Amino acid sequence: MKVHFWGTRGSLPASVTAEIIRTKIFKAIKASEGLPSYDDNAIQQFIDTGLPFSVKGGYGTNTSCTEIMDGEDYIICDAGTGLRDFGNRVMQQGARKQHAFHIFLSHLHWDHIQGFPFFVPAYIPGNKVNIYGCHDRLEGSFVTQQNFDNFPVPLEAMSSDIRFTVLEPGKTYTIGGFTVKTFQQSHPGHSYGYRFEKDGKSIVYSTDSEHKQDVDNANYPFIAFFRDADLLIFDAQYAFSEAVLAKEDWGHSNNMSAVELSVRAGVKRLCMYHNEPTVDDATLEEFLEKTRRYLALYAESYPLIIDLAYDGMEIEV
Ligand SMILES: [Zn+2]
Ligand SMILES: [Zn+2]
Repeated sequence: MKVHFWGTRGSLPASVTAEIIRTKIFKAIKASEGLPSYDDNAIQQFIDTGLPFSVKGGYGTNTSCTEIMDGEDYIICDAGTGLRDFGNRVMQQGARKQHAFHIFLSHLHWDHIQGFPFFVPAYIPGNKVNIYGCHDRLEGSFVTQQNFDNFPVPLEAMSSDIRFTVLEPGKTYTIGGFTVKTFQQSHPGHSYGYRFEKDGKSIVYSTDSEHKQDVDNANYPFIAFFRDADLLIFDAQYAFSEAVLAKEDWGHSNNMSAVELSVRAGVKRLCMYHNEPTVDDATLEEFLEKTRRYLALYAESYPLIIDLAYDGMEIEV
């Protein structure tokens, strides 16, 4: 199976200004000094191998939305602004086909539902859109988001078959061909993580989740929830110092907890997620490097692969 990240920013979309693009162009031209040839192939090769990711690309702008690709149905985690791009891709690939979507909501904060009014497949009769979450207010939040003061088209005018299902935390379900477990997390108003399993593979989606002092307890319950995951998608919006000193109780976690919990739970691959929207690409790239260096200090021989999610990133599981 494959995971595609459509939106990876936390809290609100990030902007890409003219100044940001100009800075990247400046760095790229500077770095190209002495390039022996400027033919197309040489330029492409220089981009591939001679520039850091923060110059040749970037972490993107959309808020949380992640697709797990396997089988007929679409499995989606969160409906942030990335959901719009996902929906547009579906429309391009098969506008006339009827589709089943399973959208799992970590919680109902704005950045996790704001893409839904722009999700074109939800307007197509015949499509089935199943929305799951653990909050009682699940359906109410979507209705409110599209009341006339907020958006011109009400939820009931979206012509697909939209159904809301409130799941019970701690229970196991079979949905879209996956075994799905939910788990309550620490976040203002609570959030929920999801563990998806199929054919011996497991993916854990755990965003908007703060790990506090009890994280060091040997029987900390997240260890079992993350146990042996092939991929852990983990809210690491903050650096450790920030999380502890300035942003305690804001409901997010940090890169050091990401590494430590991954190692303790036997996770194979860690992808940090819910990126801070106010920092630039170079800072995010440095954050990833620091996190990899921290793994070398914390558990030198542990073979954990660490990534920082960006819009458009795909991971094979
Ligand atoms: Zn969030
Ligand atoms: Zn939140």
